[in-house]
Amino acid sequence: MVFVGDEQFWDLVWPDVEGLVIDAVSVVGDAVCITLPARQRTVTCPSCGATASRVHSTYMRRLADRPLGGRRVLFRLRVHRFFCDNGPCSRRTMAEQVPSLTGRYRRRTTALARMVQAIGLAVGGRAGARLAGHLPVRTSRDVILGELRRLPDPPSAQGTVLGIDEFAFRGGATYGTVLIDVEARRPIDLPPDRTAGTVAAWLADHPESKVICRDRCSTFSQAASRAAPDAIQVADRWHLLHSLVRAVERTAHQHGVCLRTDAETGETDQRQQPSEPASLAA
Ligand SMILES: [Zn+2]
Repeated sequence: MVFVGDEQFWDLVWPDVEGLVIDAVSVVGDAVCITLPARQRTVTCPSCGATASRVHSTYMRRLADRPLGGRRVLFRLRVHRFFCDNGPCSRRTMAEQVPSLTGRYRRRTTALARMVQAIGLAVGGRAGARLAGHLPVRTSRDVILGELRRLPDPPSAQGTVLGIDEFAFRGGATYGTVLIDVEARRPIDLPPDRTAGTVAAWLADHPESKVICRDRCSTFSQAASRAAPDAIQVADRWHLLHSLVRAVERTAHQHGVCLRTDAETGETDQRQQPSEPASLAA
């Protein structure tokens, strides 16, 4: 089945693609295949900035797009490859790119790439691949992680509340330090070790830290006292709960014999039992 619909309809479906022209639409299996003509008469060389208009060749580029009506969408985009005729330029040819639709070395549209990135940010690579299969979007854990790596780094402005903890490199043989902006809930830096000297040097370079959340390790305490003496040091919630759990486990282990005996005899400490209300006892 091959047909071309009303162009105004396609403009409603893809409002983010400027000047969309469609040659043909067909349904092949579970995919809607849309053929688009070449669009650019001239391109700008990404190396030297010169305008290129001499066509080297034409080929068909396949781009996956967001699903439509429960079907996968596949664009077949005819693109020109142009010569760069600027003599000193080291680049000989370049392919045309369609703004808001293509990206260099990408096999999915810009809109689908944004969707894959959003899935990856929400649930991660492996779970994201399973979720995408239900949408339906064909992708994999590696593709999702690759799209996340294309995202620009977030602004590096640091808040005034800093979290410090250690983390293990693979295998757990060596440890580094992870520094977290607690207010923004994101990592700031990963010093390669967990020594007091390294952490103190980092704190000296970042005097904006007013509150430092840390575990009870003396290394980080020494670093904070040395390099940020005015900062307030607090124990973070995870380590407080972790210490509480360990204390409860230790106490239960020490009194294991008495607890087992009480459980077997059914005896309880009557002093801890609330007295029965008179109205209920009557
Ligand atoms: Zn050039």
